[in-house]
Amino acid sequence: MKKLLPTSTSGSLPKPSWLAQPETLWSPWKLEGDELVHGKQDALRLSLQEQQHAGIDIVSDGEQSRQHFVTTFIEHLDGVDFEKRQTVKIRDRYDASVPTVVGPVSRQKPVFVEDAKFLREQTDQPIKWALPGPMTMIDTLFDDHYKSREKLAWEFAKILNQEAKELEAAGVDIIQFDEPAFNVFFDEVNDWGIAALERAIEGLKCETAVHICYGYGIKANTDWKKTLGSEWRQYEEVFPKLQQSNIDIISLECHNSRVPIELLELIRGKKVMVGAIDVATDEIETPEEVADTLRQALQFVDADKLYPCTNCGMAPLSRDVSNAKLKALRAGADIVRKELTV
Ligand SMILES: [Zn+2]
Repeated sequence: MKKLLPTSTSGSLPKPSWLAQPETLWSPWKLEGDELVHGKQDALRLSLQEQQHAGIDIVSDGEQSRQHFVTTFIEHLDGVDFEKRQTVKIRDRYDASVPTVVGPVSRQKPVFVEDAKFLREQTDQPIKWALPGPMTMIDTLFDDHYKSREKLAWEFAKILNQEAKELEAAGVDIIQFDEPAFNVFFDEVNDWGIAALERAIEGLKCETAVHICYGYGIKANTDWKKTLGSEWRQYEEVFPKLQQSNIDIISLECHNSRVPIELLELIRGKKVMVGAIDVATDEIETPEEVADTLRQALQFVDADKLYPCTNCGMAPLSRDVSNAKLKALRAGADIVRKELTV
């Protein structure tokens, strides 16, 4: 990006109420068949237009064509039985009934490539596409086949690499892997999690990002955050190895979180998507609040490597709130950009 402080969002945006129940995760579709296919495309156009209207520089599909950032990808793979369900603890935090890995996992056909081509046709702006990361994928399944988290993650990394290469060929500028699990399983992240992520980006020429956050603003996450104490130092465990990795961009939760901002020094040299919008509250940040978060991050991130962003996805918020937050993000970035260019 030539523009200083290019803005983007970290993931999902609200869906229109005619497509799926608003302010709900895993919300079922309200359309089916061809109507659903076209409905998703119309929602993508709308989400893109709202990002453009707010002045967002690096745009996305707002995840309009998927129900959930992890599940939808896995639904398209062989080897996972969605009828056979087991209860597991997701990210050591909450019980969920999840599908079972019953055989070798594989991708028979592209998952999001057609959607990415559709987005590419709609705009000349840089586009970012999100995929789940290997560790976060294995954490939402019961593995009755490989019986090794590392082995399953490695298989998923190979599948993600196939998908990522086709997304790159479709014209995606930045491919982002969502790895909230990196904030929980530190030993595994350092032992094989980052290696699996590097397998997923092997051979890519487009830019790559990893998004590590404290989750959507849902109750299980806000309850968990209350147990983390006054300083959230989770990033400290994984930053040194991430700094050494081939990943280009690291996307983080910063605003309203208790992450000590000086931890960013540990990834000096990387591009950083700085979360300056809290997705766990309906309160709209003022441009000055956004600017303040960005200024703090600028102590540890070189200006040409700082990308103002949201803390996480905004699917659970109302469209009005989400749009107002996007505008605040842009306005805050404008303030700091002016300060940097005088
Ligand atoms: Zn997130």
